[in-house]
Amino acid sequence: MSFQPKLSAMDRLVGSMLCRFDRHRPESRRVGWDGELHYSTCIRCRGKIVRGTAGGWRKRA
Ligand SMILES: [Zn+2]
Repeated sequence: MSFQPKLSAMDRLVGSMLCRFDRHRPESRRVGWDGELHYSTCIRCRGKIVRGTAGGWRKRA
């Protein structure tokens, strides 16, 4: 039996709340750089996100 990283029901519940407050989680292997900002896709809401100056991830404007 293999152990695979997977979001639990609780992770999804908490995650959806965080996304609602514009605190997203990027796909760690797919972070890009556009010359000005790091950008990625949120693993929870699949939204386009950018990394803010404080280090948190927010929805791309
Ligand atoms: Zn999100």
